[in-house]
Amino acid sequence: MKYTILGAGAMGSLFGGKLAAAGHDVELLDINEAHLEQIRQHGLRLETDAGNRVVYPAVALPADARQMPDWLIVFTKTMHTETALQAVEHLLGSKTCVLSLQNGLGNLERLQACVPLDRIAIGVTTVPADMKGPGHVASHGWGTSKCMAADVASSDAKARVQQLVDDFNAAELETTVSADVMSDIWRKVAFNAALNTICAVTGATVGMLGRVPSSRELVHRASGEVIQVAQKQSIGIDADGVHRDLDDAMDHHLHHQPSMLQDLLAGRATEIDAIAGAVVRDGERLGIGTPVLRVMHALVRQKESQAAVTPTTRTIANTNSSTTATAAPITTTTHH
Ligand code: NAD
Repeated sequence: MKYTILGAGAMGSLFGGKLAAAGHDVELLDINEAHLEQIRQHGLRLETDAGNRVVYPAVALPADARQMPDWLIVFTKTMHTETALQAVEHLLGSKTCVLSLQNGLGNLERLQACVPLDRIAIGVTTVPADMKGPGHVASHGWGTSKCMAADVASSDAKARVQQLVDDFNAAELETTVSADVMSDIWRKVAFNAALNTICAVTGATVGMLGRVPSSRELVHRASGEVIQVAQKQSIGIDADGVHRDLDDAMDHHLHHQPSMLQDLLAGRATEIDAIAGAVVRDGERLGIGTPVLRVMHALVRQKESQAAVTPTTRTIANTNSSTTATAAPITTTTHH
């Protein structure tokens, strides 16, 4: 099969790298030229618990890509999806299918602007991945993915998704066909909208929130708002399961910094709009108040804008001296 990965950062490099290692024809597309050049010259280093290996997928800037894939897998951050898809319209042949396993809400709608429903698959993944540097991705620990054909009435679309899932599993990417993908997506949003936003605003790790009862309560309130908005739209969501997952994370993932906090610390834009913002907007439409998420959304936006508009000055002190440094502005590209 021909796979093209749009957005070859942490997740795109991992999925693309594993598919290439399994013998598929893979092309990685990204706007990070240093990453592409490193892969061109020295291959892509995949670091996993099973060890290190180097694979040699094709790489290109989106506008320069020529391979028309069977599947285009979108792994940009959500706020970059539209721009990224516009740059690869020439690759979307009449048979090309598109998959998104990105976090947040609205991924289906963003894909639908470019591709017919029966050629779209959406899902979620808990596979962890981090960029270690250009041409080097790491994934430690376990995770799994679920996806589903967006056109539930099309048996052809279902068969194509089953083929994709089989390819993923053969490439050591544990994946299942979801029975109810909207429920899976909202469940992950309920988790992320609570922990990612509150950690991003406070600078706390997940474990630090668990140590303060009022913070733990705030986490549950935030996810409760997502659950209410989902239930109002008849999206089945296991509320007890979400609250259990949150307690488990706060009790055990003591030092984990969610990606939204990492993004702010690195001066990058966050996925706040697809995570909390989208729930606030759905709540407004449905007449459901989301006071905690509304505040978290506004505060994360504020933190993004401070870094982007008014570079903050912070003092770096060591035992002998202190110097001042200017925080990097948020840019529209995301590089680890
Ligand atoms: P990332 O920032 O590492 O990678 C995104 C890549 O997209 C970057 O390399 C960036 O240069 C590229 N990009 C930006 N604009 C582009 C454009 N116009 N055209 C082509 N490429 C462009 O992000 P990530 O961690 O890989 O996350 C991707 C998605 O997967 C997000 O929605 C994230 O929430 C989700 N996710 C991540 C993880 C994880 O552990 N990293 C786990 C589950 C889900």
